[in-house]
Amino acid sequence: MTDRLLQLYRGNTPEAVEFRQCIRSYNNMFAFTSLGVHYDRELSKRNKGIYTFRVQGQIYHFVNPLKPSDGEKASNLQLYFYDTEHEVQNRMALSSKFRESIVQQLKSILDHNPYSVFIRRLAEIKDLDKYRIFLKSNPGLDQRVFNIPSVSQVAAVWLDSDSVNGDSSREIEICTKTGSRKIVKQHYGCYDTLQYPLIFPSGETGWHPGILRKNKTQILQQPDQTCEKENLLSIEQCTDIEQLFIAEQTAAKKKKRQRPTVSCREYYAYKFQMRNGDQSNLLHIGRLLQQYSVDTYVKLETSRLEFHRGKQNKLRTEAYQGLLDVIAKGSTNASNVEKRIILPASFIGGPRDMRRRYMDAMTLVQRYGKPDIFLTMTCNSSWPEIKNYLLETDECQNRPDLITRVFRAKIEQLKEDLFKKHLFGHVAAYTYVIEFQKRGLPHAHFLIILKEQSKMFSPEEYDNIVCAELLDRHQSPYLYSLVIMHMLHGPCGSMNPSNPCMRQNHKCRNNYPKDFSEYTKHGKNSYPIYRRRDDGSKVYIRQHELDNRWIVPYNPYLLAKYDCHINVEICLPLKL
Ligand SMILES: [Zn+2]
Repeated sequence: MTDRLLQLYRGNTPEAVEFRQCIRSYNNMFAFTSLGVHYDRELSKRNKGIYTFRVQGQIYHFVNPLKPSDGEKASNLQLYFYDTEHEVQNRMALSSKFRESIVQQLKSILDHNPYSVFIRRLAEIKDLDKYRIFLKSNPGLDQRVFNIPSVSQVAAVWLDSDSVNGDSSREIEICTKTGSRKIVKQHYGCYDTLQYPLIFPSGETGWHPGILRKNKTQILQQPDQTCEKENLLSIEQCTDIEQLFIAEQTAAKKKKRQRPTVSCREYYAYKFQMRNGDQSNLLHIGRLLQQYSVDTYVKLETSRLEFHRGKQNKLRTEAYQGLLDVIAKGSTNASNVEKRIILPASFIGGPRDMRRRYMDAMTLVQRYGKPDIFLTMTCNSSWPEIKNYLLETDECQNRPDLITRVFRAKIEQLKEDLFKKHLFGHVAAYTYVIEFQKRGLPHAHFLIILKEQSKMFSPEEYDNIVCAELLDRHQSPYLYSLVIMHMLHGPCGSMNPSNPCMRQNHKCRNNYPKDFSEYTKHGKNSYPIYRRRDDGSKVYIRQHELDNRWIVPYNPYLLAKYDCHINVEICLPLKL
């Protein structure tokens, strides 16, 4: 990444700050391809709440024709070709939020981008309509070495009469006439490069099939190992022919398991990794990282779906789909049979996978009885493990890689406390789910079923693990501050009618404020009524005075250890 661009990403000048605020708009304006996507505009408003980029459905990248249609403003690739004398003015005309000095800077940075050089040079060709223009889908570079593509590697021009060499399905044709536009397929190496010029200013190639993988340990240990050198059983060693067959089969399987190329998932897992001395700056590009990671995820899932689409004839899909249903309905017209794609249970998040997980959870209840404890843990974006790795210019919501990684580590730690150290007693079974809030922070819900000897029956036992009161601020100042920070509900109701917990009937979904109670007792529904003494302890927070009725039940040990919203509730075994 050039120093000038790095200055915009990390600097503190008013220009750099403004650039980072509108970074997605600047990138999309300089992008060569246009983005076709349904995204949630409400969540991505700049001035309202935390910025979140959320999409629904497929993402498409299009290469538009070189000239805009009549009456339309030039955009994307057209801006590099059409009316280049007024390029900056044309770019500025797209939105009032752009600053001219930033556009000027970005333009001069991208003057060395091979795609921009190529498109600008097209203006020098006379009778351009007689030519066919192609962008190469995979510029064919060895990504293990640091190199950037040259103009001739990324694109080419042919006279219309020439036959195109090689496989033209691997090229993207740019139309000179108005009208048609071409889709850039997600497995092309130039997919990322064309859409994200501000991440790949020199035109670096992204993932494409066939990137060779090198296994470091293998190379170091056996530099010239080939198949012949594998230790196969010699015939003399065999006592019967069966043994030889098995040995051969094992060797053959071993060879099959070798995967010499890098998969899409592996490639991006590598790219999104934090490293000491990383020069790429990829993780510090602010809101653009949100768009880029969403785009990458959709790309990954699309390639998985395409894999299953290609495998349909290997599954006995006719047993699952339309054919049998139509026949069962008594219809004999074959045109009523719809072609459906069946996703196997191994496709994570697919309907069969979800159903399998649901059935597993239900089986746990059948086998071990109703859950005893319900626990919710929410990610705290101020955890030092997150804060320590943010640059001054980073905002935590723009680092989904870091947040999910730290959260997972905390969940693993919590699981160890609960299930190996038996914090709440011996556990017979548990199940949990991790969800993401609308604004992107993860949280986990656990259901825990205890073994017979650890089950709790009396309110006194509940008091041992759950507390729903403010603590003495002098006796336990640290815990007191955590309760105030993480465990106060709302306020909602008449104090704050627009709180998200409020239902249509103006009542709180979680029934806050709860009633005072001198001691813990069994309630009418499946939760007990916890001790919330009317002892006059109050705290003034978010412009309101709140007392024990507003405390979300918690476990003091877990709260102190994990420093986040962590709600622990007892589920009553019997309905009373
Ligand atoms: Zn409420």
